[in-house]
Amino acid sequence: MRMLRKARQVNGLLGQGILILMDEGSTKIKIELPDDVRFILDTIRHAGYEACVVGGCVRDSLLGKEPEDWDITTSALPLQIKSLFKNTVDTGIKHGTVMVIRSKRGYEVTTYRIDGEYIDGRHPESVEFTPVLGEDLKRRDFTINALAYDPEGGIVDLFGGIPDLENGIIRAVGDPCKRFEEDALRIMRAVRFSAQLSFDIEENTRAAISQFAPNLKMVSAERKRVELEKTICSDNPAHVCEYRKLGLSEYIVPDVWERCFGEGSAAVMEAADDADPDKKKLIRLAAFFMELGPEECAHVMRKMTFDNRSRDLVSGILRFRSGSPETQGGLEPDAPGIRKLLVKTGRELFELILAFREACGEDMSAVRGVYEQVIRQGDAFSITMLDIKGDDLIEAGIPKGRQVGETLNMLLDKVVEDPELNKKETLLMIARGEL
Ligand code: ATP
Ligand code: MG
Repeated sequence: MRMLRKARQVNGLLGQGILILMDEGSTKIKIELPDDVRFILDTIRHAGYEACVVGGCVRDSLLGKEPEDWDITTSALPLQIKSLFKNTVDTGIKHGTVMVIRSKRGYEVTTYRIDGEYIDGRHPESVEFTPVLGEDLKRRDFTINALAYDPEGGIVDLFGGIPDLENGIIRAVGDPCKRFEEDALRIMRAVRFSAQLSFDIEENTRAAISQFAPNLKMVSAERKRVELEKTICSDNPAHVCEYRKLGLSEYIVPDVWERCFGEGSAAVMEAADDADPDKKKLIRLAAFFMELGPEECAHVMRKMTFDNRSRDLVSGILRFRSGSPETQGGLEPDAPGIRKLLVKTGRELFELILAFREACGEDMSAVRGVYEQVIRQGDAFSITMLDIKGDDLIEAGIPKGRQVGETLNMLLDKVVEDPELNKKETLLMIARGEL
């Protein structure tokens, strides 16, 4: 994890693109930049401006992680950047950002800027461009996110970001109270980075988080939801307990926060480590909300701006969790029972239900075995899987309209009991009352 610390000790090339060069006692850190990033930096610099990579990509490179995106900061103005590159998109010119497209990827190039007065606890009223890199780094949230790097000059660390990276510390740049008062989203970002990186939040930063927790009211539900999701999907999902410890919960989860992330949630979240990130997120969300009923969960998730699919799947997991009215008898490894449940859930939710129950410590191997057999055999559990269509029934004399749907449902019930019946001729005979 602490690649940087290791790198310093070893003094050499350590994979993941980090090279530490010892030079008469001084340490020069070299980050391998992707060719396109290097090209963008070189183009800007050859035109006479400053340019470096900044923020999350520097932090992640130093930690030996592959950065998700490479952000570039520059003394050039947006129009100057646009004149230097063939393919650009105006993503946020007003805030100084131009997206430069290279090899079908976008790189945000942002002019050094100073944020003006914060008006609403979230956004600066105006931004001002500046030719001074240090001014731009000052506006960034945490010391580990305020690092810049260029291949010639090396790392620029004005606020002790490197020692904080080495020691695993999240610390606000400047006065933490002022920084959280300016933008309360930073409160949730602090918790998120501490979960993603397994870092501790520095004492004064922590105190300021608690003090300014009510300012989270000014942050949109959507931004809060994104932060919660990132925290839950991290290596330390149980860090969401920080929400309660720091007094943030009531501003993040409306109404039911006292019953979210209850006693059993942490263990289930940690056990839910599916390789598929989407599945992992949904199971962990179900664990987060597991003390709520399915309707209540759906209601809260709607308020929190979760998309319909996530909401339906997470509340569905809770609807069919063990002990729920729907599955009081438990999930048995018998094929008709499993097909019946599949009629209600479909495959996606069914698999999530299994995974959630496994994360809760239930042994699902027998059920999983039968389920896989059901799928392998191609057993029908939805009307579209029947060997007959509505039109066939109409042709056979069943009046158009409601009766066709009712007949298909009746046929599905029969086929779920006995998959052998799923043949067109047999189904027609049943429909006609001949069988
Ligand atoms: P990740 O992309 O993994 O979420 P990141 O640090 O790259 O992490 P971004 O939201 O992509 O985060 O922002 C890029 C950089 O912009 C940050 O590293 C930080 O320097 C700065 N930044 C982003 N959001 C804020 C904020 N709310 N307040 C101050 N600085 C911020
Ligand atoms: Mg980023």
